[in-house]
Amino acid sequence: MTKFYITTAIPYVNAPPHIGHALEFVQTDVIARYHREKGEEVLLLSGSDENALKNVQAAEKAGVPVQQFIDENARSFVELAEKLNIQFDVFQKGSSKDHHTSSQKLWELCQKAGDIYKKSYEGLYCVGCEAFYTPDELNKNQECVEHPGRKLERVSEENYFFKLSKYQDKLINLLGKDELRIVPSTRKNEVISFLKQPLQDISISRSNERAKNWGVPVPGDDSQRIYVWFDALNIYQSGIGFGLNEEKYKKWWPADVHVIGKGIIRFHAIYWPAFLLSAGLPLPKTLFVHGYLTVGGQKMSKSLGNVVDPFPLIEKYGADAVRYFLLREIPSAEDGDFTEEKFVERYNADLASGLGNLVARVLTLSTKFEIRNSKSPLQRDLVTAGQIQNSNLQKLLEETREKTEKALDDFQFSSALEAIWEVIHFCDKYIEEKKPWTESEGQKNVLGDLLCALQEIANSLAPFLPETSEKIKVQLSGGERVSLFPRLD
Ligand SMILES: [Zn+2]
Repeated sequence: MTKFYITTAIPYVNAPPHIGHALEFVQTDVIARYHREKGEEVLLLSGSDENALKNVQAAEKAGVPVQQFIDENARSFVELAEKLNIQFDVFQKGSSKDHHTSSQKLWELCQKAGDIYKKSYEGLYCVGCEAFYTPDELNKNQECVEHPGRKLERVSEENYFFKLSKYQDKLINLLGKDELRIVPSTRKNEVISFLKQPLQDISISRSNERAKNWGVPVPGDDSQRIYVWFDALNIYQSGIGFGLNEEKYKKWWPADVHVIGKGIIRFHAIYWPAFLLSAGLPLPKTLFVHGYLTVGGQKMSKSLGNVVDPFPLIEKYGADAVRYFLLREIPSAEDGDFTEEKFVERYNADLASGLGNLVARVLTLSTKFEIRNSKSPLQRDLVTAGQIQNSNLQKLLEETREKTEKALDDFQFSSALEAIWEVIHFCDKYIEEKKPWTESEGQKNVLGDLLCALQEIANSLAPFLPETSEKIKVQLSGGERVSLFPRLD
């Protein structure tokens, strides 16, 4: 059986999740479900980056012990996934003992390769990014691009460094050859042009003092902790047994897809493959890089007070409505905008008037005239079995299946849904033209076609709107009628 190992990025748990996390979770879940439907053995991993300095600072500010603080926040990430019908096969916590052991193993392998050395260092540190920046990487106010308005810390201490510069040419070469594929290609080009400038070695530890004795201890040196990105990236490995359970690790590694936000591409496309090359380990196959969610055209931020909490949204509209909006409205690889007005507009147009209305109409008519599919409606291949009488519909369904699969292979969620909605529009027109509410010989064929089309729609929607897909299937096989998406006013 083919294995498929996919991960979400590993969020910091210095605050509860916002709607941007929901976007990434949903995108990852769709790809995972798609591969499961193809019959592959899938493992979906998420986790929490618990060793970051900003977790410690946030806990201090809240006046709560660090472990308790991060446990509570990590739990709300898992809860968000559950509410969205996403099942993490593994949720790996960065503060777990296993993860510490595994990360120390990665350190030791890099050390054996001669890539770790100690030196004194002075630099500008952004706690938001947990990264050092050189002055030319900052904005015109000399602030971090990701965290404008926040002062950078001047840090001066003795740290361990990783010989990143040694891997510069190798990285350019393997990214150029798509050995680590970056989607979309604009992001790949960004990374490659960054790599064409001289690459600096990076600090991969900090003093206990600055780490406040939190995080993974450096093997063989009690005075230092491992730098948060070195260990956070290793969550992708520790969660499947690296340094802990070789058999499990060999089964799943390398990752087939890491899903990440655009702000952390450098860590994933440069640091991570360099650590792995140093340790002599295989590289992940694909990085899918999504954009950010803005709210009413503005970047979401605590200081603007416009952070959208996904929980009440799911509570009010249901998981599938939220999944649909995020997948359909937000371009998968660019930034997209959220407002509740846009949400309701999409909901009413596509879900209530589109999908929900079609399902209700077809089921009402076929119940009234006692039309059933001649074959079991749960059969996957009504289309290829030639059950469709109308050749245009037959052709459209075949094309849609191909388009959807192609779009999913390219992480184009919106295009896939657009293709499925073309079928819905076709069916609406087909009903208007053929008027199957008047009894005739042709009427049975028309309703039969529409039932097959609904079956195909339900199948295609399974990775995107799992609950709705199931509800349609149940009704098609004679189960109780339910309203799918009542119109919102
Ligand atoms: Zn920053």
